[in-house]
Amino acid sequence: MTSKAIALPQLSGFTEREGAWYAEEIPLADLAKEFGTPLYVYSKKALTEAYQAYDKACIDQQGKRRARVHYAMKANSNLAVIDCFKKLGAGFDLVSGGELARALAIGADPKSLVFAGVGKSATEIASALQAGVKCINVESIAELHNINRVASKLNCRAPISLRVNPDVDAKTHPYISTGLKGNKFGIAYHEVLKTYREASQLPQIDLVGIDCHIGSQITTTAPYLDALDKVLDLVENLKREGIMIHHLDLGGGLGISYSDETPPDITEFTNTLLNHVANRGFAHLDIVLEPGRSLVGNAGVLLTTVEYLKPGVEKNFCIVDAAMTELMRPALYEAHHGIVAAQTKSAKSSTYDVVGPVCESGDWLGRDRTLAVEEGDLLAILSAGAYGFVMASNYNTRPKPAEIMVDGKNAYVIRAREKTAELFASETILPN
Ligand SMILES: *Cc1c(COP(=O)(O)O)cnc(C)c1O
Repeated sequence: MTSKAIALPQLSGFTEREGAWYAEEIPLADLAKEFGTPLYVYSKKALTEAYQAYDKACIDQQGKRRARVHYAMKANSNLAVIDCFKKLGAGFDLVSGGELARALAIGADPKSLVFAGVGKSATEIASALQAGVKCINVESIAELHNINRVASKLNCRAPISLRVNPDVDAKTHPYISTGLKGNKFGIAYHEVLKTYREASQLPQIDLVGIDCHIGSQITTTAPYLDALDKVLDLVENLKREGIMIHHLDLGGGLGISYSDETPPDITEFTNTLLNHVANRGFAHLDIVLEPGRSLVGNAGVLLTTVEYLKPGVEKNFCIVDAAMTELMRPALYEAHHGIVAAQTKSAKSSTYDVVGPVCESGDWLGRDRTLAVEEGDLLAILSAGAYGFVMASNYNTRPKPAEIMVDGKNAYVIRAREKTAELFASETILPN
């Protein structure tokens, strides 16, 4: 049998010791036993370290803060996760009224919130203005006018930034590339100046910033520098026209290692960008960074139990109790996640497609994986901290799993497992 050696990501919160995998100080097998599977497990240490790696670069050598991290909570919006980041000093990047409600629920300072998204409704815009967010990132001329209308009704001013589509290729999966001409995001590069001029004439609008976000799971710094140069050129032109903005939001998108990717080190990456801003003479601008995946991706795993081993003519299947409903990334982007046996067993190793019980051929979690497992064994699907639970669905009437946060020797249930009856509790049948 050919066994492809597939690299595992470097993890700080999850380690293998003598054949058993741990979340910080707790064996994953103990967590599965206590809380059941499927189960999301996050490491507080891992997300703290990732945050601190960014924050270290945000303070310059004189001790002055030159940038601020606004965690893009769409990657993982559990209240306990965002509360950890709030306590570490993070602001937030929001993409919906629902995320705004989450930020307010943990008592985040409204001035630490930026509100992005290509299709904000008037209701969402009103909620953001009433909350008093730092900035609304605008993605079209139509939206700009809508914000002006809503602000006029509320008799308030709207602090806004225009999201520039810099037309750079982030060289990532087409579904998570957002800074190309053909993408739905942002204002076309050649229309940005014109749009600022137009915005400056609107009575309720305050022009406070400029922003871009070129994609996700980006593993090199070069596209960021290209985008940065293009955006700084715009800032220069705006200044010439007397339009002064205060902040520059560089978005998120830094990739993580799922297997053998080698994304830049967070601190080095951030230093490179911030030094570039300073070298071009823009050190006076407040810089906003909006990382999501790189703060939480490798701070979480999804635990799942092997239900059946099903040998086949072409393929062997390892059927587990997690599915695309818990981790959609493989089905959506053919994404790779490391999969390990949480406890090494003497079982014979074979090559399997690891699949879930959902009635879709797209319901797979890993292909051609060499695993030494038996029915009833526990597997850990790695790098599931970002775009895992938040993309989970109840398809096939599957209750969403519990989420656990581990802090050293302690494990906390940060979201209870859903109960099946809850899934249809708000449905009603027609009267006779
Ligand atoms: C999704 C998103 C982010 C975060 O992206 P990651 O790849 O998770 O870092 C940041 N900013 C905006 C506007 C986004 O839509």
